[in-house]
Amino acid sequence: MFQKILIANRGEIALRVLRACKELGIKTVVVHSTADADAMHVRLADESVCIGPPPSRDSYLNIHQIVAACEITGADAVHPGYGFLSENAKFADILAAHNITFIGPSGDHIRVMGDKIEAKRTAKRLGIPVVPGSDGAVTEEKEAKRIAAEIGYPVIIKASAGGGGRGMKVARTEDDLEIALATARSEAGAAFGDDAVYIEKYLEKPRHIELQVFGDGAGRGVHFGERDCSLQRRHQKVWEEANSPALNADQRARIGDTCAKAIAELGYSGAGTIEFLYENGEFYFIEMNTRLQVEHPVTEAITGIDLVHEQIRVASGGGLSVKQDEIKFNGHAIECRINAEDPRTFTPSPGTITHFHTPGGLGIRVDSGVYSGYKIPPYYDSLIGKLIVHGRNRVECMMRLRRALDEFVVDGIKTTLPLFRDLVGNHDIADGEYDIHWLEKYLAAAD
Ligand code: ADP
Repeated sequence: MFQKILIANRGEIALRVLRACKELGIKTVVVHSTADADAMHVRLADESVCIGPPPSRDSYLNIHQIVAACEITGADAVHPGYGFLSENAKFADILAAHNITFIGPSGDHIRVMGDKIEAKRTAKRLGIPVVPGSDGAVTEEKEAKRIAAEIGYPVIIKASAGGGGRGMKVARTEDDLEIALATARSEAGAAFGDDAVYIEKYLEKPRHIELQVFGDGAGRGVHFGERDCSLQRRHQKVWEEANSPALNADQRARIGDTCAKAIAELGYSGAGTIEFLYENGEFYFIEMNTRLQVEHPVTEAITGIDLVHEQIRVASGGGLSVKQDEIKFNGHAIECRINAEDPRTFTPSPGTITHFHTPGGLGIRVDSGVYSGYKIPPYYDSLIGKLIVHGRNRVECMMRLRRALDEFVVDGIKTTLPLFRDLVGNHDIADGEYDIHWLEKYLAAAD
């Protein structure tokens, strides 16, 4: 087992990982920018190292500073959290070259899944169902037209190097296709320095359903069920549930089994998420994230398993603590992402939190790095906390969520809490009847 883990992240996830390390009796080092000197994770860590000024590229993305911090403090492993360097294959490779364990998959697995064309090809080879589309990059308009006619309109053109919901264009007719192809390619080139694009069938009303998987690096793969993350705004997840209101136990076992087998065959190590669009009873792979996800706590709530403990165990060579038949799904969990944003316009609202009071009671978990008097710096993403609620079934979970939202107080800044108070009383949400476009339509109608 590791003696000392360096946490290369900030905010709620840095604290989340720190808690897991403490429970396992592992010493912690955190790195931080000058803007985060007062952050909770810095206060609670055994050691902290300031690695640079506020902009991420000079601090949280500065690989050399982070490696230097490992060497100065004698950390033998790095947990990257999510975002920042968590899916940076070069970072994983550099750490390996310094004999420091990256708590995550190999650089090669990160690389394959980071290239969406390569990822899709790999998924297909492993027997995972994919969205019908081009087999690889498309450059010629003639070829694009042929493929689109074959799979049928509407189609979506996506950047191979894309991420964060950027670099996608929908074409509803052959006339649209020409412009869509040209704009997608030039936007991808400008945004990602790589203008490779590919074509997929555009699904009109899918849900976003993702499978939490784990590989032990020794050829064993398991799944921890799915999460439904269909409630999105601008392709950003807002509310996540486990299990999905749209799946039954049979469907869960079937897609879970497919994913676990694929992970085993890949020889994958650590946590991963296989993301699908789901429509009319069919799953369509869109991408795999090779890291811990923001929404992992809903899976922890219904399985009772600490996924960060598992990540650390696997990375240290200790394997997974559970076998597939020991992973049981109990009740229902919902996570609300609380952002420092205007609940209607979603404009960031940094500033000082004058009062912060979190709800409590059975089935309530709040993961957050903030406190009363904390000043939110304007340099980073606006997530300030996550409310995770568990109940014996979805109805109980929703009742408890409503109560918890009423108790939650964040003064001094704007947050997305009022949005969740609206959503929890909505009929479609109560019935679990929503697709990936539902929230955008709801917000447009409320304007
Ligand atoms: P990114 O890596 O940029 O997040 P994804 O491939 O995960 O890109 O897609 C992001 C979102 O775009 C999906 O959650 C979905 O809302 C939409 N999307 C992607 N592919 C399709 C498709 N074939 N049909 C319909 N919507 C899609």
